[in-house]
Amino acid sequence: MRKQINRRDFLRIASIGTASAIALSCGLIEDPHLLSTEDLDLMPTDISQADSGTREAEVLILGAGISGLAAARTLVDKGIRVIIIEARNRIGGRMWTDTSLGVPLDLGASWIHGVKGNPITELAKKFGVQTVASDYDNGLVFDFDGREMSDSEYTEIEDLFESIYEEVAQMQEDTDNDRSLQQAFDEVISSRDLSAEELRRLNFYIQGVTSLEYGADPDDLSLWEWDQDEEFGGNDVVFPKGYNQITDGLANGLDIRLGAKVVAISYGADGVEVNTSSGMFLADKVIVTFPLGVLKQAEVKFEPPLPELKQSAIDRLDMGVLDKVYLKFPGVFWNEEIEGISYMGERVGEWCDWLNFVPYINEPVLMAFHGGAKGYELEELSDDEIVAGAMKTLRVIYGDEIPEPDGFIITRWGKDPLAFGSYSHIPPFASGDDYDALFEPVDEVLYFAGEATSREYPATVHGAYLSGVAVAGKIA
Ligand SMILES: Cc1cc2nc3c(=O)[nH]c(=O)nc-3n(C[C@H](O)[C@H](O)[C@H](O)COP(=O)(O)OP(=O)(O)OC[C@H]3O[C@@H](n4cnc5c(N)ncnc54)[C@H](O)[C@@H]3O)c2cc1C
Repeated sequence: MRKQINRRDFLRIASIGTASAIALSCGLIEDPHLLSTEDLDLMPTDISQADSGTREAEVLILGAGISGLAAARTLVDKGIRVIIIEARNRIGGRMWTDTSLGVPLDLGASWIHGVKGNPITELAKKFGVQTVASDYDNGLVFDFDGREMSDSEYTEIEDLFESIYEEVAQMQEDTDNDRSLQQAFDEVISSRDLSAEELRRLNFYIQGVTSLEYGADPDDLSLWEWDQDEEFGGNDVVFPKGYNQITDGLANGLDIRLGAKVVAISYGADGVEVNTSSGMFLADKVIVTFPLGVLKQAEVKFEPPLPELKQSAIDRLDMGVLDKVYLKFPGVFWNEEIEGISYMGERVGEWCDWLNFVPYINEPVLMAFHGGAKGYELEELSDDEIVAGAMKTLRVIYGDEIPEPDGFIITRWGKDPLAFGSYSHIPPFASGDDYDALFEPVDEVLYFAGEATSREYPATVHGAYLSGVAVAGKIA
């Protein structure tokens, strides 16, 4: 069944100071506090820098994100000797709870998308981690001049979008040629007699639907395949004390070597040899969980090179970007009960989507999302320029008297050299088959896991987790 699309669903996505405030940029400044046990009962016990201990295992796992941890946990529970090798000085990968503003804030994933039947829900229960449900209908929409839109005005935009989307969906079913989702929208829109104002509002809506959830704009998404993924039912929930409680729980007792960047992997009938910035590791088998962005950059050398089918899947699929700007204020100046704040600004996709964190953590924190091309554009600006852009928008909505933030955090996932983007999507002429090709093992020695190997649930924590469990099942 086709998904219901609602722009207020933007929360499904992401999965959302002064210049002297704390600035933390993904991948540029690592977070030494991340492995602190503060607020957490759960703590991995065998995490060490890579220069210690034995360098041989039955299975090497490359990457200590959720997929690598899930694979390791599953294998270790079956009595298999595993070492996880991780380039960062922390575990979690694209799950990254930062506490530099004095409260836990997730710079990567925030939500369990759909708690019903979701394996991450089970982990949250197992580790006794608190969650809070998101209410996507609990939001306000402001027009470009800061005026709050009425429900009926917003419903008009939703209805317009839905009527256009119905035709686009039909096109998706009927067409024999793939093209971009944007081209399909353009074809339908050009057959309508829309006013400039209707167009402006429609574009705002369309951009939000795709760029936040997929990290890509409609012109970067395949009409045929962009929404081929599956979903779990039930609410979406966040973790007031951070998503890393889940990765820390999984990592408990695992042998994890931090600070070891893999540069080359040689594999064959005799096993594998993995060369890292901290020396060589040997094993019978290896599981590669690098993000698609890292594989696309081809910074890690495979010997022999990856088979054509896998390499062409890597080339066809794409990585998108979703970035977050957190602002912590001295006090709340907005309506503290709402969750989503949407702004239909002059520029589509710019400072449009905000989240109020008071309902989640009871702290005066706002977060803005930017996805797709806008996300990449913002990454080029300085921290000061970004904070100034945020404040300019907030002043349009809430007036000139609002205070400057006490602190901010800005992510730049596109520039992160161990991710090169936030998550994968399917551009024109790629397909769900490419996710399957990425998962496919090579010679029963070289195995793959990670969100971009999950055909059903790409771009999610649960997809990455399930791929880790599945690959471990294959090996065990
Ligand atoms: C901003 C943002 C918001 C998101 N929101 C949500 C959400 O709300 N809900 C949701 O379900 N999902 C969300 N996601 C997606 C989710 O975070 C990812 O799908 C998931 O965490 C990916 O896990 P993984 O194990 O596949 O990859 P990763 O977590 O990226 O793990 C791979 C690991 O490999 C390491 N590595 C890379 N290169 C090397 C190398 N050469 N040598 C050694 N190690 C290396 C990396 O450092 C990393 O730790 C979001 C992601 C982002 C970025």
